[in-house]
Amino acid sequence: AIEVQGLNKYFGSYHALRNIDFHVESGERVVICGPSGSGKSTLIRCLNQLERHDAGEIRVSGILLGDNVRNLDAIRREAGMVFQHFNLFPHLTVLENCALPQILSRKTPRPEAENCARQYLDRVRILDQAEKFPGQLSGGQQQRVAIARALCMEPRIMLFDEPTSALDPEMIHEVLDTMVELAEGGMTMLVVTHEMGFARQVADRVVYMEAGEIVEIAPPDRFFDAPADERSQRFLSKLV
Ligand code: ATP
Ligand code: MG
Repeated sequence: AIEVQGLNKYFGSYHALRNIDFHVESGERVVICGPSGSGKSTLIRCLNQLERHDAGEIRVSGILLGDNVRNLDAIRREAGMVFQHFNLFPHLTVLENCALPQILSRKTPRPEAENCARQYLDRVRILDQAEKFPGQLSGGQQQRVAIARALCMEPRIMLFDEPTSALDPEMIHEVLDTMVELAEGGMTMLVVTHEMGFARQVADRVVYMEAGEIVEIAPPDRFFDAPADERSQRFLSKLV
């Protein structure tokens, strides 16, 4: 689970996150949406401390984030992250991309790490590409490798930041299908996305952000069909 209370974040004098309160329960799927620059990435990056927050409390699986380096290691094990631009190591094969993080950060013996990698590559239906390099794969395939790599660390929570927005349209669905399967398997997920079909299908709740604030949190049916705040209404009316 993730609990956030009174989170504030500044970039210099720019107030990027304003008094953010929200939570994601175990087994819950939460989608974050909102216009460009509203703070979605900053929020999700604060949750695994890719960005440091200035005020407020963040707990991931009960671990309080702060200055403690050991907590940082613990958090990175609890929460897997998938980015817009895949962030695979270009000079490593697909298999090595998935095995190496386990070997380096969990000291898993190589054979075991490679077995685990094969298992998750199979899960995302890409085991046949295991010996290729990322540059030899399509964007959709690379993103599924990135998902497998995160899953290899056996996280309790998966954080996604616009995982399909860098993909060609015909590849979006294969990544979304993988994410839907992950959700159906019970994974706790926090997903920044503009894919409203995905949000309707899998989200338990939708968080709408604007200008560094959470404007509205609602179940998808209510958010899409009867948004309460006029800012959400304006955002949704522009999507169509
Ligand atoms: P998008 O939909 O375009 O990805 P976003 O909602 O993810 O937008 P953020 O990337 O979180 O928005 O950025 C929120 C605000 O904080 C923006 O105004 C951005 O310019 C600013 N910002 C983000 N990162 C930094 C940084 N490292 N230094 C200074 N300002 C930053
Ligand atoms: Mg962003």
